[in-house]
Amino acid sequence: MRIERLEVERFSLKPPIPFTVAYASFPTLDYVLLKVHTDNGLVGLGEAAPDPEVTGETQESTMRVLELAAPGLAGQDPFALEAILHRFEDESFGRPSAMAALDMALYDLQGKALGVPVHALLGGSVRSVMDIYPVVPLLPPKEMADLAALFVGQGFDTLKLKIGTGPDEDEARVQAVRQAAGPATRLRVDVNQGWHTAQVAIPAIRRLMRYQVEWVEQPVDAEDLDALAEVTRAVKVPIMVDEGCLTPRDALAVVYKGAANLINIKLMKCGGLYRALQICAIAEAAGIPCIVGSMGESSIASAAGLHLLAARRNLIAGEVIGPLFLEGDIAGGLQPEGNRIMIPAQPGLGVRLA
Ligand code: MG
Repeated sequence: MRIERLEVERFSLKPPIPFTVAYASFPTLDYVLLKVHTDNGLVGLGEAAPDPEVTGETQESTMRVLELAAPGLAGQDPFALEAILHRFEDESFGRPSAMAALDMALYDLQGKALGVPVHALLGGSVRSVMDIYPVVPLLPPKEMADLAALFVGQGFDTLKLKIGTGPDEDEARVQAVRQAAGPATRLRVDVNQGWHTAQVAIPAIRRLMRYQVEWVEQPVDAEDLDALAEVTRAVKVPIMVDEGCLTPRDALAVVYKGAANLINIKLMKCGGLYRALQICAIAEAAGIPCIVGSMGESSIASAAGLHLLAARRNLIAGEVIGPLFLEGDIAGGLQPEGNRIMIPAQPGLGVRLA
């Protein structure tokens, strides 16, 4: 099996309400669809969901990088991941969302060629179903509480709250949501760097402890792992690194500095499944559990995330919920059942274009 050509297309999807976090608001989400055609008629599907704030990539730049890489990929064996991805990384200066699209398309091809689901290529399956939980966007406290009540009414037992405009407003948000969601709902908060420094973050986190927050994600600026380490040492609630950990090398720095108790792995930050497995291995060796996050990805990248979750015990939660909450989708095949989603069992990623 040899790669013949690449097809690169843009698409956009709408969240039901503009998706707002501390650093940006997204009324629509822009993606890139990659189709890798082979000489035996198989087509591997890949998706990029570039976030300029996190990796500096845009829909436009991602398309350009993939188009530029296409001639060099023609004639390559889709099983030669190590060679192809290293070359792509070198030549594209490590554009991770573009690389993630290529990586998952190659895994999709491998699975389709062998007749096995992608997780069988990643180490097999430690789970066949994954619990999922909604993300409540950053809004005034009352609106977040209303959304939380709606989700709990739908049967969700865990919520992730986007906060990060300031300790007072954020405490009001968490308090309102705790009241609306009841004592049994697990609450996880994502500050998206909004408190910037350890001096602000440490007292802010201590104030949140009375609302039984399960973990606090990226409370300080992404580039300051020392500040994150200071927060992690100072507070009792587990701290998760997200924007501060993109690559396997970043994960190693997190370990060396003791910067976090948890790592949020995203295919769009690290460059796909192959690199995600490396981060997971570094973290597991250091005793740091990880979750698989999402950049609001559609069903293609979400399926890739689910296969990763299926294959590693060290991955304790998954936020691959784009397909449940986005209006429309470019692909189908995922099977959500209430607050759980089945890991696809079909060959490859297990999704097909809608
Ligand atoms: Mg995050």
